[in-house]
Formats: sequence, C-alpha cells, structure tokens
Amino acid sequence: MSERYLTPGPGPVQISRDALETRVRELGARITADYGSEPLHVVCVLNGAFPFMSDLVRAIALPLTVDFLSVSSYGSRTESSGEVKLVKDLDQSLKGKHVLLVEDIVDTGLTMQYLLGYLQGRGPRSVRVASLLSKPSRRLVEVPVHYLGFEIEDAYVYGYGLDIDHRYRNLPFVTSLRSGESEP
Ligand code: 5GP
Repeated sequence: MSERYLTPGPGPVQISRDALETRVRELGARITADYGSEPLHVVCVLNGAFPFMSDLVRAIALPLTVDFLSVSSYGSRTESSGEVKLVKDLDQSLKGKHVLLVEDIVDTGLTMQYLLGYLQGRGPRSVRVASLLSKPSRRLVEVPVHYLGFEIEDAYVYGYGLDIDHRYRNLPFVTSLRSGESEP
C-alpha cells in the first residue's frame, strides 16, 4: 500500500519534488525582492494550498503574517460551476495591508475572481496572487497571477496539496490522471 500510494499517476503532468522545491525557492526570492522591506500579509486558500503556502513563506525573507480562508465551489469534482461559497473566513483584518493570496491552481479562474473581489472589499493596500499551477487553456475569466509556479496542460492533477476526493494531498510531488479516468 505505502509504495503504491507514492507512485506517480499515469497522466501527462508530472512535477517532481526537486522541481517544486526549486521553483518555490525562485518564487520566494522574487517576492522578497519585489516587496523590499514592506511587511506582507499572506493569505492561504485552504485546503489545497497548504503545502505550497508552507514552503513558500519559508522561502520569503521578509517580516510577514499569515491567515487562512476556505472556499468551496459547487459543481462536480472536475467541473467548477462558478458558484463559490466562503466556508472559513479570515481571522485578521486586511485594512492597509499588502496581501499575497496563495492558491493551489487557477483553472477556469472563477474561484480566483470571487476571492479577489472578496479581498478587495476589505480595504487592503494591495493584493497580488501566487498560484502553484495554472491551466490557461481552461480559463473562462481573466484573472491576474503575479507569481506562477507552473503552467500546465488540461489534466486533472493531484499531490502536493491537490486532492482526489480529499486523498493524495500529502504526496510530495504533483502528478495527474489520464484523461477520462477518475482514479490513478
Ligand atoms: P476554478 O474556479 O479556477 O475553475 O477552480 C479552482 C479550484 O478548482 C482549485 O482551487 C482547485 O480546488 C480545483 N481544481 C481545479 N483543477 C484541479 C485539478 O486539476 N486538480 C485538483 N485536485 N483540483 C483542481
């Protein structure tokens, strides 16, 4: 079981542990340079972004604070309906803060569009987005992604925070399903 669980899936997108580490370090260095000495407030979108967020904040050499929110989108597992609901709200105020929103993946962009509207309404000084993955071919609405880990093709990905029905989030790499399949 344990060995099989850690076997990459059969799909076209495969991002190794080493590649993730290198890219996250690069993003952290860019964020550090871009914000200079400005304090940063990092907001993690649960559940999928937790490993990325955890690695990213440790690659940013700036004073920062963190907070978490959680949304659920209605629809089937692979098709977002665009209706997004806030499940867990932020604990801290965003007033006057430089906010960095950390997400696992931007697919249609509908979740990100909702999140940006929600955060902008809470009086931040600025809002930027860091996303580990993006599937540009699936985009329905344009959303900014200032710090992107990897652009990927249209495949269902899992691992490093991303799930299949709540499982596989702990895989240390990103892997994917074959088109039309729902299990590795
Ligand atoms: P969007 O609103 O951009 O269509 O979808 C964003 C959300 O859908 C992501 O935060 C993620 O939860 C989920 N999602 C989209 N594509 C994938 C995927 O390939 N794998 C997994 N595990 N979740 C995905």
